[in-house]
Amino acid sequence: MRAVIFDVDGVIVDVRDSYHHAIKKTVEHFTGISLPLEEIREFKFSRGINNDWDVSLELIKKLGKEPPPYGELVDVFESFYDELKDREKLILGRDFFKELKDRGVLLGIVTGRPKRDLSYLFERFSLWEFFDAVVDDDDVGDISLRKPHPYPLEMCMGKLSAGEALYVGDNRADWRMVRDYNRMHGERVGFVHFKKVSDEELPAIFATDDEGELLRFLIDWVR
Ligand SMILES: [Mg+2]
Repeated sequence: MRAVIFDVDGVIVDVRDSYHHAIKKTVEHFTGISLPLEEIREFKFSRGINNDWDVSLELIKKLGKEPPPYGELVDVFESFYDELKDREKLILGRDFFKELKDRGVLLGIVTGRPKRDLSYLFERFSLWEFFDAVVDDDDVGDISLRKPHPYPLEMCMGKLSAGEALYVGDNRADWRMVRDYNRMHGERVGFVHFKKVSDEELPAIFATDDEGELLRFLIDWVR
């Protein structure tokens, strides 16, 4: 059975005004230094760091400051994120997923979001009903097994009982997770690069910044 698995941030939802600002505010909180958002994005994407708590921590270290305890950083980050989360806008909406669902396509999610942030988003935009399997950061547990480690993708493929899949992602961490999954399991997952938000060059079996083109490609592939 063929499935299509989606990343969330930068694919389903635009987080440039939420998570990226929360990184900026968290770094500023602990260092007193205000970094331009462009510099933050460049750092995150060029290093391929998926988790934004980790991005904040690495930036604090890069600025030569003593990093706070991780739990404290997470609390500060999440309180900033709570103030910003309603700024998030959908990139791929209900119609997009309904079209796939109506054709009987198995749909999954592999995201680095904590469960609480994912639930808020999916309830706000009524997205739960479309997905047959969802793997978030809390499902993974062990932080060394988070994306870009292939473990969350293995979990999702298992939950879906999928033989083959496409993973639709937006950045290097997504591509790396797919590459490493295929090294362990044979070429079973194709990486599709949805470039709506990021214009990084990544090896992909298909790349587009257009929702309609993406939808047509996915439908043709599962057929
Ligand atoms: Mg992403």
